[in-house]
Amino acid sequence: MLPTAGRRLTLVAAAAVEPAVLAAISGAIERTWGLSVSTRMAPLLLPPSGPAWRGSQLFAEEVLRLLKGLLHEERMLALAVVRADITVPIMQYVMGEAEMGGSCAVISLARVGQDLVEERAAKLAIHEVGHLFDLAHCDNRDCTMTPVASVDELDARPTALCRYCLSDLEYRLKAP
Ligand SMILES: [Zn+2]
Ligand SMILES: [Zn+2]
Repeated sequence: MLPTAGRRLTLVAAAAVEPAVLAAISGAIERTWGLSVSTRMAPLLLPPSGPAWRGSQLFAEEVLRLLKGLLHEERMLALAVVRADITVPIMQYVMGEAEMGGSCAVISLARVGQDLVEERAAKLAIHEVGHLFDLAHCDNRDCTMTPVASVDELDARPTALCRYCLSDLEYRLKAP
């Protein structure tokens, strides 16, 4: 059992996301990380325009900020699922973003395509939750912490941690 087991995470459906997709994401997080996941439908009340946006793309940091505000009173992990394409200033786009070792993460369904949506969304979620546990990107392609830049790479990315990331995680969560 992973040392992350038993912690709670709120899955925030910030957009109209099919229940099957939400169920796939929460099941994957529970199986992979041992977290207890509850789902909440909660629009993040995004401003329709302004500095939160770059064209039709939403800055991921803005989503994390809104998510934090939404869950202000609750000291728990949170993952938002949005439909808008998200980005960070130095990238063309990202499929997910998380606070390293923090509490809030987001995944976007904008680039997962029409097929395998449940599986792909679940993989994005597993990876971002890894960042919440302070895991950095991993060079090992047999690891869910390997970064991806396309749906093809996402499809090739496994859902499990490699043994190096696993021992890193165990070390971090044991350390005072
Ligand atoms: Zn990452
Ligand atoms: Zn790894």
